Amino acid sequence: MRGAGRVAVAVVLALAPVRPAAAIDITFDYSLDAGGLFSNPQAVAALDQAAAYFEAFLDDLDAITPGGGNSWTASFTNPGTGSAASVVDLGVLQDEVYIFAGSRSIPGSTLGIGGPGGFSFSSATLPFATAIQSRGEFAFGTPPASRTDFGMWGGSVAFDTGASWNFDIAGGPSLAQVDFLSVAIHELAHVFGFGTADSFDNLIDFGPDPAEFTGSASVLEWGGAVPLEADPDPGHWAEGTLSSYLGSPQEAAMDPSISGGMRKYLTDLDYAGLTDIGWQVVMLPEPERGLLVAAALMLLTGLASMPRSRRRPPVSGRPRPRPRSRARRRAPRRSRDFVRASG
Ligand SMILES: [Zn+2]
Repeated sequence: MRGAGRVAVAVVLALAPVRPAAAIDITFDYSLDAGGLFSNPQAVAALDQAAAYFEAFLDDLDAITPGGGNSWTASFTNPGTGSAASVVDLGVLQDEVYIFAGSRSIPGSTLGIGGPGGFSFSSATLPFATAIQSRGEFAFGTPPASRTDFGMWGGSVAFDTGASWNFDIAGGPSLAQVDFLSVAIHELAHVFGFGTADSFDNLIDFGPDPAEFTGSASVLEWGGAVPLEADPDPGHWAEGTLSSYLGSPQEAAMDPSISGGMRKYLTDLDYAGLTDIGWQVVMLPEPERGLLVAAALMLLTGLASMPRSRRRPPVSGRPRPRPRSRARRRAPRRSRDFVRASG
């Protein structure tokens, strides 16, 4: 069946861009889920689906491997309590992002809170220090005002136990429900630096009122500098910012709020913003289509008996361990909330 094999290989190659060889792998840690939201398998599945949009990104993130004198502390907001938390010598694999996911009763209309974690260390080689600060996305010691890229070990996302959540990915929310997938996508974007990274802050023009985002991909997508939510702390697009998703108009995922019954995927403008802060974004198709493509790929590889190579390209030459860097401490990045729109 040589001919059939060749046909199958051609189809697999044509579909290849949908499933990049090198991609990010998000690990969720539910051990701090005080509110118990993630004891519901539907909640876990919806968060995994939200993660898939970010796992498609092509950045290579350095591993964090404590040991041999390298020691560090990861700091983050406990998603089950809202208090500061830390873990000593968390190991993070190459391209892995480690996120504590949990729930609690969050006061007011806030549906979710998300942000990247911080770190501290007292002694580390330069490669180790670079890995915990930026995962190799920028050189250790680059001043915050000069950073044009972003990389993090992970962080935390928290969701309100009091919201009337819709966890049904295919069905979508009723008017009385808040869509969990949409809020999860939003909070994960904050972990990935939207509104929280120095490379985001460095692209804010505080001259106009409201402040504007001047990243080149966003400006190209929007047709000019993009208005942000009102000062003093602009970490979202302006309320009601309209962009498009798969060619159809949609309110941006990264404006500050969501209404009942609304499903919001990452729009073209959201992807542009993530590009501007340093990510090599790859757009995923809608969930239904993604599942079909994955199933087709499995079938075709089975038919053609293709040896599947998922090996990463060799890691380029790393500098030998340097003298130990000075002690550094980095507070957890500020977290971002996402609120229910009134009315
Ligand atoms: Zn937000």
